[in-house]
Amino acid sequence: MTSPSIRVATADSVHAHHWVDGIVNPDAPGGVRPVINPATGDPFGQFTVGTASTVDQAVHAAAAAGPAWWDTGAQERSRLLMEVADRLHASVKDLAALESQEVGKPIAMAQEDIEGSVDMIRAAAEAGIAFFSPPSPAQGGIRRQPYGVAALITPWNYPVCQVTDVLGALLAAGNTVVIKPSEKAPLSVAALGPLLDRLPPGVVNIVLGDGVAGAALVEHPRVGLVHFTGSVAAGRQVGAAAGARLVPCFLELGGKDALVIDRDIDVAKAAEMAAGGGWVNSGQVCTSVERVYVHRDIADNFVTELTGQAATWTVGPGTDPATRMGPLVDAGQRDLVHRQVVEARLAGAEVTIGGEPLPGPGFFYPPTVVVGAPDHSPLMTEETFGPVIAVRVVESFEEGIRLADTGAYGLTASALTNDPDHIELAARLDAGVVTINGGGDGPDDAPFEPARASGMGRLQFGPGSLECFTRPYGVSIGGVA
Ligand code: NAD
Repeated sequence: MTSPSIRVATADSVHAHHWVDGIVNPDAPGGVRPVINPATGDPFGQFTVGTASTVDQAVHAAAAAGPAWWDTGAQERSRLLMEVADRLHASVKDLAALESQEVGKPIAMAQEDIEGSVDMIRAAAEAGIAFFSPPSPAQGGIRRQPYGVAALITPWNYPVCQVTDVLGALLAAGNTVVIKPSEKAPLSVAALGPLLDRLPPGVVNIVLGDGVAGAALVEHPRVGLVHFTGSVAAGRQVGAAAGARLVPCFLELGGKDALVIDRDIDVAKAAEMAAGGGWVNSGQVCTSVERVYVHRDIADNFVTELTGQAATWTVGPGTDPATRMGPLVDAGQRDLVHRQVVEARLAGAEVTIGGEPLPGPGFFYPPTVVVGAPDHSPLMTEETFGPVIAVRVVESFEEGIRLADTGAYGLTASALTNDPDHIELAARLDAGVVTINGGGDGPDDAPFEPARASGMGRLQFGPGSLECFTRPYGVSIGGVA
């Protein structure tokens, strides 16, 4: 099926509004704010800022649309979601260009990410049909109901995918949704609104705004499920608010992910993997490799190889096809990253490459390797969210595993080793996902539950997501009453 592509403006005139009850809504009780292009430092668009009143309109629209959306049945929901996926697919280039301008990532990467995410909507649409195969009439058993209005609150690092990775499953499960994207990247998410117009009005709503709108959404009495992705600090507030309301809450939060490298591996390959894990999307990935624990026997070679890898990461604006690494999202993020590097250097660490903001306009920071930061330094303990790989030399693989499991975060962890005993040791790392030797053989649709402060709630991203987003209950039917 062919679908018309949306026209996403990329000039200074982009002015994004909310999408509520199937129409563009310019409600701006919080005023209008600019969106800055991080490659230039200049504003390139603006958005209307919603507050509690906008959230209230959106939640009421979602609540009103809920019963009909559930009654429409899995087949029809699936058909409509497939149409949505087709429309999104036809607009991927425009969405990727917009995303690249608002967060700086290379366009080709944004395009690939969004295409993959659209496939997740298709998969959810398909899974919904099997999941809700009709129960035999008048027979007891386990039934499932949607939670009602789902709040979907997202960060800026993958603006479109953070929405579309989850939206299909929430909708296929029969929920209606209110999305609250990040105030740092609202334009590409706002552009999704008109692409969703095949859905009945109110089934999906988008409210633009900051944490004020986000908090109002979580606290709204008609919201029945919260799915939040963002920082630990905001996640704690969201979890507390959802807990006070006794509604289910999924929290996907920050990380300080570790890679443990044994002495028996291919050093060049390990350096390439570490560079990819640490520098993709300028390190602004929740699962970035931020700490590397490397065995002393190969440490010097590894650091040399990793330092050499930096030359293959061309830094530039995301709109330049030659760019492999774009800027950081804003000046505040670049200051945070640089502060951690400076503190580590002052504490005796060596910066083997990078380590200084790049001159000129925009918020560029080069691929950076820091060796020997103290274990207690912010670079080793706090999320960096920048292109900085901190290398710590260890005396044994066991020591690396032990250090990887320290600290507040346990989102994902990885290891490289050829020793079967060490593979088993690594498999016990305390994290939501453990990847050994680059991954490969593993369970399909594995449950994902972040460890420690990296989140809360067990999610799945395949067919199992429908279980996550529906409430099961037992129906027991007796004989003639
Ligand atoms: P953030 O916590 O500042 O904001 C995330 C979203 O929450 C935004 O939409 C924001 O407006 C909203 N928000 C802020 N305070 C709120 C409150 N009190 N109540 C409700 N909503 C509120 O995070 P960010 O800077 O946008 O994103 C970066 C963070 O997200 C990093 O820590 C990163 O690791 C994390 N992240 C995690 C995952 C994951 O899957 N675990 C994926 C991507 C990003």
